[in-house]
Amino acid sequence: MEYLKNHINGELIEPVSGKYLDNYEPATGQVYSFVPDSDARDVERAVAAAEKAFPVWSVTPTQERARLLQHIADLITQNLNSLARAESIDTGKPVTLAKRMDIPRAASNFSFFASATIHFASESHAMEDSALNYTLRKPLGVVGCISPWNLPLYLFTWKIAPALAAGNCVIGKPSEITPMTAYLLSKLCQEAGLPPGVLNIVHGYGPKVGAAICAHPKISAISFTGGTKTGIEIARVAAPMFKKLSLELGGKNPVLVFADCDYANMLETTIRSAFTNQGEICLCGSRVFVERPLYEKFKNDFVARAKQLKVGDPLVEDTDQGAVVSQQHKAKVLSYIELAKQEGGKILCGGHDMKLSGRCKDGWFIAPTIIEGLSYDCRTNQEEIFGPVVTIMPFDSEDEVLDYANSTPYGLASILWTQNLPRAHRVSDQLKSGIVWVNCWMVHDLRTPFGGVKQSGVGREGGLEALRFFTEPKNVCVKLK
Ligand code: NAD
Repeated sequence: MEYLKNHINGELIEPVSGKYLDNYEPATGQVYSFVPDSDARDVERAVAAAEKAFPVWSVTPTQERARLLQHIADLITQNLNSLARAESIDTGKPVTLAKRMDIPRAASNFSFFASATIHFASESHAMEDSALNYTLRKPLGVVGCISPWNLPLYLFTWKIAPALAAGNCVIGKPSEITPMTAYLLSKLCQEAGLPPGVLNIVHGYGPKVGAAICAHPKISAISFTGGTKTGIEIARVAAPMFKKLSLELGGKNPVLVFADCDYANMLETTIRSAFTNQGEICLCGSRVFVERPLYEKFKNDFVARAKQLKVGDPLVEDTDQGAVVSQQHKAKVLSYIELAKQEGGKILCGGHDMKLSGRCKDGWFIAPTIIEGLSYDCRTNQEEIFGPVVTIMPFDSEDEVLDYANSTPYGLASILWTQNLPRAHRVSDQLKSGIVWVNCWMVHDLRTPFGGVKQSGVGREGGLEALRFFTEPKNVCVKLK
C-alpha cells in the first residue's frame, strides 16, 4: 500500500512526525493507502521553502508563469484516465463523472488562469491635467489554500491556479479524507518543472495542518472551501491577524419549478442537481419547490426516475451513483433521514443504506432518497445534509416560493425553471444567493464570480475576482505639473 508524501521545496518528503493516517476507499470500506499526519512543523518547512521561492517567482515574467501552468494543465489532460480512476477510488464517485467533470475541470482551471493572468489589466485614473493615478497589482507573498473532499482536484486547483498565476507561492492543504489526486498533482508539477518552493502541499488533519496554516504569521491570505463551522473557526483565527480571507462555505440550495417550465429538461436536470456525486456538491439542489398544478405529475416522474439510478461500484462505467465519502458521513446523512421522519416527512423512495455484493460489500452506499410532507422551515429543510437526499414541496405563488427559497441561513446557489422571461429575471433578482441558474445547472463559465451570501461565504472566486483576491492593489499618484 502506498504511503503518500508531502510536497515541500520541490521534493516528496515524509511528515516530520513520521506518522500516517489511514486513507479509505469508500466503495470497499477498506484502507488502501496512508496519508502523512503532518503538523505545524511541516507547515513551517513549507513556509520557509515558499518564502525562499517568492522573490524569484513573483518577478518571473507572466508569460513564463503562464507557460508553466499550461504545461501542468496539459499533463493533467494527458493523465486523464489515471487521475479519474484515482479520484474515483479516493472519493467513491463514479469514474465516469471524474472523467467527464473533475479532471477536465482541474485541467481547465490551470489553462484558464494561465491565460487570464496574461490578460489581467489594472486601472488608471486621470485627473484632467493635474495628476495621473495608476494601480499596480502585486502578488501577496505566501498564501494558504485549503480545500474539501467532495471535488478534490477540481477545487484544489481552482484555488492554487490563480494564486500561482498571480505570482504567489502556495501552501496547499487538501482534505485528509481525499488526498490522492493532490499527491499525484505534486508529481506532475515536478514533471512540469515548477520551481521548488512555489507550490507546497502539506497533508493531514484540518485542526493540525489547516489550523497551523491559518495561524502562521507569514501566510498573508487564506482561500478556504469547506463547511461553514470550519469557516467560522478560520475567520476567528485569521481575521484578527488581518489576513485576506476568501471563504466558500456550505449551501442548502433551492430548486424553483414553475408549471410553465420545459418539463423534460427540468426533470432530467433536477435528477442530476439532486444526485450527482451522491448529492455531495455544494451546488446540488436539495429542496425542490414545485408549483401546485405540476406537483403530482412531477412527484411521480421524479420518484420513478430516481428509482432507475444505478447505485453501484464507482469503477463500473454504467454506475450513476457511487459511495458516500466516509463511514462518518454516511452516518450523518442517515441521521438526517431519521430526523426527516421524526419531523413528519414521508419517504417516497430510498431512505436507507444499501448493501452491495462482491468487491463493494463493505462500502458506504445510500439509496437516492426523496422526501415529501415537510414544512419549509423544519431542520431537514434548513440544515445542509450533503448527501443523496432531496425534499419536495408544492407552492402556490411566486411570493410564497421566494419566502421558502430564501428562508435558510445559506445563500450559495438557486435553480429556477420557467419559460416566462419576465418572471425569470424578476425571481432571479429576488433570490438571495450568489449564483442563480435559470433552466440549467452547473453550467460554469470560469470568468464569472463564484461564491455565496449569508453563511455560504465571504468573497468571490473565479475569473478576475480570483486574480484580484490574490493580489494587493497599490495606487500610484503622479503629479503632472
Ligand atoms: P470541512 O470544513 O470539514 O473541511 C474542509 C477543509 O478544511 C479540509 O481540508 C479540512 O482538513 C480543513 N480544516 C478542518 N478544520 C480546520 C481548521 N480548524 N482550520 C483549518 N482548516 C481546517 O469540509 P468538508 O467536510 O471537507 O467539505 C464539505 C463542506 O464543504 C460542505 O459544507 C460543502 O457545502 C462545502 N463546500 C463548499 C463549496 C463552495 O464552493 N461554497 C464547495 C465544495 C464544498
